[in-house]
Amino acid sequence: MKEHEIYEHDVIVVGGGLSGLRAALEAGKKGKDVAIISKVHPLRSHSVAAQGGINASLGNVPEAEDDKWEDHAFDTIKGSDYLADQDAVEVMCKEAPDVVLELEHMGTVFSRLENGKIAQRPFGGAGVPRTCYAADRTGHNLLNTLYEQTVAESLDFYNEYFVTSLAVEDQKIHGCVAWDIEKGELVGFASDVVVLATGGYGRIYNRSTNALINTGDGAYLAYEAGVPLEDMEFIQFHPTTLYGSNILMTEGARGEGGYLKNEEGERFMKDYAPEAMELAPRDIVARAIITEAEEGRAFEGEYVHLDLTHLGKEKIEKRLPGIKQIAKDFAGVDPVKEPIPVQPGQHYSMGGIDVNTDGTTKIDGLYAVGECACVSVHGANRLGGNSLLETVVFGRRAGEKIGESLKKKEKDEKLIKRTLEKDREEIDRLLNGEGDIIYSDLMEELRETMFQNFGVYREERSMEEGLKKVKELKEKYASVNVENPNEKFNTSLIRTLELKSMLEIAEVVAIGSIERKESRGSHFRRDHPERRDEEYLYHTKIEKTTEGPELYFDDVSLGRFEVKEREY
Ligand SMILES: Cc1cc2nc3c(=O)[nH]c(=O)nc-3n(C[C@H](O)[C@H](O)[C@H](O)COP(=O)(O)OP(=O)(O)OC[C@H]3O[C@@H](n4cnc5c(N)ncnc54)[C@H](O)[C@@H]3O)c2cc1C
Repeated sequence: MKEHEIYEHDVIVVGGGLSGLRAALEAGKKGKDVAIISKVHPLRSHSVAAQGGINASLGNVPEAEDDKWEDHAFDTIKGSDYLADQDAVEVMCKEAPDVVLELEHMGTVFSRLENGKIAQRPFGGAGVPRTCYAADRTGHNLLNTLYEQTVAESLDFYNEYFVTSLAVEDQKIHGCVAWDIEKGELVGFASDVVVLATGGYGRIYNRSTNALINTGDGAYLAYEAGVPLEDMEFIQFHPTTLYGSNILMTEGARGEGGYLKNEEGERFMKDYAPEAMELAPRDIVARAIITEAEEGRAFEGEYVHLDLTHLGKEKIEKRLPGIKQIAKDFAGVDPVKEPIPVQPGQHYSMGGIDVNTDGTTKIDGLYAVGECACVSVHGANRLGGNSLLETVVFGRRAGEKIGESLKKKEKDEKLIKRTLEKDREEIDRLLNGEGDIIYSDLMEELRETMFQNFGVYREERSMEEGLKKVKELKEKYASVNVENPNEKFNTSLIRTLELKSMLEIAEVVAIGSIERKESRGSHFRRDHPERRDEEYLYHTKIEKTTEGPELYFDDVSLGRFEVKEREY
């Protein structure tokens, strides 16, 4: 067998989005030899698409003068339907002002108020305007800032490398194995620490706002290595995605004063959240739109209008230039003159790899940060603007922890070599096998199944049917073959490898959804419409065992804020 290259670094960060770059930067500043592996160029990571903003209780606008981290924490916990861990939320909200100012000092070009301070806009579920933004291109600005910083720190990058396996033995991490997409060969990485920062699993659904690369690879790698996945049933559906293409129309559009109207021209949110109206949390607004459609008040039975026309050309062009451009390019609608057709679409993965507030997992040396992790600050429903915040707060904390605690260990090349051989066999089977199924035959079916059976509204019978379907698709994967056997830049091979993660993750989402027999946040069951705190104010955790997935419940960290009915 061909000798594979094995690279050595103290720290390997898998993922070049905001959380990965922030963790890498901090560990690099602490003197560690850090390398970042990413399946796309870091600046194409999904973080680049974030639009609306990042939350911090800076209190810059007059209506929010008295804003405090405690208010931010309360809004987050209430928004989470009380499932978020209150100690983790406290950490995030306390550190928010500092990380935002730090990003500003690193060079992020935030939008400004007249007095020069960072501008803040209202967002769903927030009591006051708390969301700092760079027009509607916040992620683009933040990601470029952090990328520049990591380049300046001379960190190593392995761009367009796809991580296929972790090398774990006796509950310790020793590195990982990746496919060099350009050269078409497997390489090993021996390291003391691996940080998973691989983003969400949104693309197990169709009608998603997510980049096509959000396939849950990191969650899959951790699950395979024996780390539990937490609260995976909580999938956020964003209420306003462009009808047809499901490109995001940021909540910032409603934050700037946009209305939602049904076919009768009514601002229907008055019937669902009379106080918060369009700025109720996403789970509530998404369900309201589906209800309007089911009761015959949506356009063509499917979409409602996001009306910005009363905001005027100047405000739209200054605050929402990206939204204007996307609406024009993808729906042929000029939001200055006409309303934008919108419908709910999959948007965010609240669940993920079970971690502590410093990013550590139960495997020594394995960390996870960002959307692939569940720390848990979003609980059953994430508030807009809190995810960008999570990436930088917990990315920085993981980097700090690595800086303080990393202990050099003997590199276990034998383990890396065994992992390389195992993955080589798998790739050979995919490239040269006899199977007559290709990835796309299964992928679309999986996505449609997840959308239909584990969507905004759920119920037992259809979820059981959905789980059966997912299991069938998993079985069929054994006969999947990549049509084109070339090794260099074979994107079909990458899609096929991603499909494996997606199928495993979909099964976990399905099991969690079926077992949670209540409605909480984004998980709404028509057959159990009540929240049932006594039985289910717990995290679900699912671990891979030799007998298959094993689910158990774990405590939520409560304390500062009393658990209450959620009203808006
Ligand atoms: C359209 C849109 C707009 C949003 N707007 C906002 C907003 O305004 N405010 C907010 O708070 N949140 C927003 N969010 C959510 C937020 O953008 C994300 O949660 C966040 O950016 C995720 O960052 P991350 O670092 O965890 O992962 P990502 O940015 O998704 O990066 C993942 C990285 O992992 C790498 N990777 C994955 N698998 C592998 C593998 N197998 N091998 C090697 N590399 C791999 C990828 O190449 C990539 O570099 C938005 C989400 C969407 C979909």
